[in-house]
Amino acid sequence: MSENENKESLNFIEQMIEDDLKSGKNSFVQTRFPPEPNGYLHIGHAKSIVLNFGLAEKYNGKCNLRFDDTNPEKESTEYVNAIIEDIKWLGYDYGDKPLFTSDYFDTLYEYAIKLIKKGKAYIDDQSAEEISAGKTNPSIPGIESPFRNRSVEENLSLFEEMRDGTASEGSRVLRAKVDMSSPNMQMRDPIIYRIKKVAHHRTGDKWCIYPNYDFAHGQSDSLENVTYSLCTLEFRDHKPLYDWLINELEIFPSEQTEFARLNLGYTIVSKRKLLQLVEENHVSGWDDPRMPTISGFRRRGYTPESIKSFAHKVGVARRDGVTDIALLEHSIREDLNKKANRVFGILDPLKVVITNWPESKTEMMPAVNNPEDESAGKREMPLTREIYIERGDFKEDPPSPKKWYRLGPDREVRLKYGYIIKCTGFKKDEAGNITELHCEYDPQTKSGHDTSGKKVKGTLGWVSAEHAVKAEVRMYDRLFKTENLNTIDDDFTNHLNPDSLTINNKVLLEPSLASAKVGDSFQFERQGYFIVDPDSDENNLIFNRTVTLRDNWSKM
Ligand code: ATP
Ligand code: MG
Repeated sequence: MSENENKESLNFIEQMIEDDLKSGKNSFVQTRFPPEPNGYLHIGHAKSIVLNFGLAEKYNGKCNLRFDDTNPEKESTEYVNAIIEDIKWLGYDYGDKPLFTSDYFDTLYEYAIKLIKKGKAYIDDQSAEEISAGKTNPSIPGIESPFRNRSVEENLSLFEEMRDGTASEGSRVLRAKVDMSSPNMQMRDPIIYRIKKVAHHRTGDKWCIYPNYDFAHGQSDSLENVTYSLCTLEFRDHKPLYDWLINELEIFPSEQTEFARLNLGYTIVSKRKLLQLVEENHVSGWDDPRMPTISGFRRRGYTPESIKSFAHKVGVARRDGVTDIALLEHSIREDLNKKANRVFGILDPLKVVITNWPESKTEMMPAVNNPEDESAGKREMPLTREIYIERGDFKEDPPSPKKWYRLGPDREVRLKYGYIIKCTGFKKDEAGNITELHCEYDPQTKSGHDTSGKKVKGTLGWVSAEHAVKAEVRMYDRLFKTENLNTIDDDFTNHLNPDSLTINNKVLLEPSLASAKVGDSFQFERQGYFIVDPDSDENNLIFNRTVTLRDNWSKM
């Protein structure tokens, strides 16, 4: 590969890294994924995970998992554990153990003292409203706080009072003394420590003051010698502050680079809104198979490989956009097509009696498990006098045989892996619904041993009535009916799709599925991909439909 070709295939972050390694600006790649444990990870986080861990893998570096746990009232150990499970499931290695910003609370406190001693931070007694009003707006300079020029000694003793718990919540904050007239609002003396008399899920009651995001994030990056601190574009305005703090504290010079966040059609990627869906019972939980969480996708039947391949296809951009959800669906079809065994599952069963088949005869028909993978082998399907086919495969009054290859009166089709059958009659109930078909099979036409010379175009799936396994299938559609949820201005819950879940209890499966276990994925021939749901038990086999077979993306 010539140098130019190589350059073209790199994204802008990889390009930057390669330039830095070449020029000697950096000698190693250290990244981090910094989730706040205030919810479950979603597909947007997956993009960031694949980016950060992927770069570490590619450049022989390391990626830390660091919990950004500075808002104790919203955070919990449940979320920490769920995040760890998701990252492990995706197959990434974050070294010996996860890291926590809360492990740095002592150091961050020392850093705050250092800033105060340098005259670069002060205690402000103004209320939150007064502080915010003093910042004014970007077109005019802000108004300096009357407390801005307190002495170092006074600031130190007031900060100690904040830490000791003698100052009440909301009475004081620590602000960095940066620049009240900066056009960048982030630089107008940001709050870096506030009093919160809440216990923390890891440090308990040790602290009643907690650092703000801006005074925790860059400092934690620096403590971990992070060379590439990658974050989404909304943090662009924070970069000058990130740099200012590192510079004033004279610590390891981590550097922030922004990339476009993932937005996905028909999908919400905001933990706050996903939490609302859970709390208001619009879904059954964070891992509801309709949720865009990693745990939801896992339960829905997505594989780690499909999510990683999706993230790679989306790529890394500098500008926000909305990704077509068809790309995600394409990624899982592509992966399951290689991995999932084919089986017969009849979603809307119609009984067929093969009238010239002996009552007690069962013939075992060999069936290919996966045409994409010879090593998946074969299984035997019992064929009996009574079978079920898909109701939609029969028409009482079908169009011409050129347009309709399936069954109709006097029409012939092949039962896949079985014989050719011809429809000789049918029964109806009083309401006019077809209740049963009568067919005759041609003994000369056994699949693989056909001596009849007959040619039929239609091939149908079927299951033996006597051997069929009953199941429930949960069919999912998009959780929202609106594609671009970034542009709506009413409540996002107004855009929920009322038909996002349909439960089908009539499903009949081929007998090999009796031994299917939770988490097993299959392709139901001509229907889609399905996975056994953890709600299943011995008496009730439940499948989630992962995705249908039709692929709009690869056609495009
Ligand atoms: P949310 O808005 O859902 O709460 P967040 O950014 O506040 O997301 P964090 O837990 O702070 O959630 O995010 C951890 C990391 O994941 C951050 O580096 C963040 O930039 C990244 N991230 C979050 N959402 C997306 C997204 N939609 N696309 C790409 N990266 C994302
Ligand atoms: Mg965040």
